[in-house]
Amino acid sequence: MRTHSYQISSILYDYEKYKESCVFGRIVKYEHIRNFLNKSAEQSLTEVNSIGSSYEGRKIHLIKIGTGKTKILLWSQMHGDESTSTRAILDLINFLTMSDENNQTRKDILDSVTLYIIPMLNPDGAEIFSRRNAQLIDINRDALSQQSPEAKILYKIKNEIKPHFAFNLHDQSSGYSAGMNYKSSAISLLAPPFNHQLEINEARSRAMKLIVSIYNGLSELIPGHIARYDDEFEPRAFGDNFIIDGVSTVLIEAGGWVDDPEREYVRKIYFTALLKSFLAISDNNYENEILENYYKIPENKEILFDLVLRNITIEKLDKQFTVDIAIKHETYFDIEQNKIYTKGLIADIGDLSTFFGYDEFDMFGYNLELPKFTNKNYLEVTEYHNKGILFVKKKIKYSNWIEQPINFYSTQKPSSKLDVDLPANFLLSTCNKIRYIVINGYLIDNYKSTRFIGNGIAYP
Ligand SMILES: [Zn+2]
Repeated sequence: MRTHSYQISSILYDYEKYKESCVFGRIVKYEHIRNFLNKSAEQSLTEVNSIGSSYEGRKIHLIKIGTGKTKILLWSQMHGDESTSTRAILDLINFLTMSDENNQTRKDILDSVTLYIIPMLNPDGAEIFSRRNAQLIDINRDALSQQSPEAKILYKIKNEIKPHFAFNLHDQSSGYSAGMNYKSSAISLLAPPFNHQLEINEARSRAMKLIVSIYNGLSELIPGHIARYDDEFEPRAFGDNFIIDGVSTVLIEAGGWVDDPEREYVRKIYFTALLKSFLAISDNNYENEILENYYKIPENKEILFDLVLRNITIEKLDKQFTVDIAIKHETYFDIEQNKIYTKGLIADIGDLSTFFGYDEFDMFGYNLELPKFTNKNYLEVTEYHNKGILFVKKKIKYSNWIEQPINFYSTQKPSSKLDVDLPANFLLSTCNKIRYIVINGYLIDNYKSTRFIGNGIAYP
């Protein structure tokens, strides 16, 4: 029997074929969408219409695929720095418009549903890797006031199409786990409520059952990594308002996965989540799910850090104590270089036994030392490390970050203090020998030479 899981595994087997090559990583801009649409226009596989313009005048597009009677509206990147769903959607469009041994599944979907896809609702924000639009408005808090052209366009399209289902597609911080454990919440799902009492109407009940179906489908692939997003009512958000209007709305958030900072593996998971949704809607299979199982999905919990170093010894005022230190890699966008870099900030210090890390190390027996500064220029970074130096006075062309495991400063000495919300720069030594170096929140073993995957900071 051709079950959903059989169909999905057959499609995932060929995923690389469908994966859109014009987008990779978290920076996805308007030009990527335009290139993609130009390419598919040449092949006239989809119907594409311009449905208006962003505040800065970039076109917003609506792609229509399928001929089925169930209408599904999807919009992606309403927050400009959340591109995982955009990439997954382009992969899905490729899948749906190709011809191969998965044709029957394609036909099942496209005969049953019609997809209306807005691949990038906030192109102005996407241009500068910003959540907000050019007016600095969070579009997902503008459903009532509709001061942004993007919010107006979305509401207008919803009223014109009158979809049965809507998918509000986002990225969340990688700091969420699925329940109270170390497993990251790679996908979190929500059927938005329509009042503070979190009541259930018919539209919401359909969305909840569909989510149970998505959860079950994804659990075969990434067990324990799927969560239920916080269901507090937000009267200004789109999902919450669409549910009021009778549209079964599903919010999907892409989250973190170990060693996947660009969220390319999560992109594939997201593709699978959408695929499963379309299959479950196409054959109405979701209707068989038990509503109460929605509440059994583990809750999204913000208890994950990028790095947790446990049992570090700190000496202060001639006394010693032991703490855990948690570090979070905050992403920043360098407009000039069109690149994302990170600041590894200390997120918490103390007993962090109720928190987890993507990477965790027991530093029992290691003493924390604060780093030194120098204005001497050596050739090798390791020479600085061996001397306990993590800050070098040096002028460089750009002012934000460097690829090496060292920090530069050109005029004023940056703070080398150990404090919450400051970049983590320190050394860990035992028997007066430096074993580990934490540079801008990235851990390096001084005894091993491994490729540095992070970045240092270049201070002005
Ligand atoms: Zn978002």
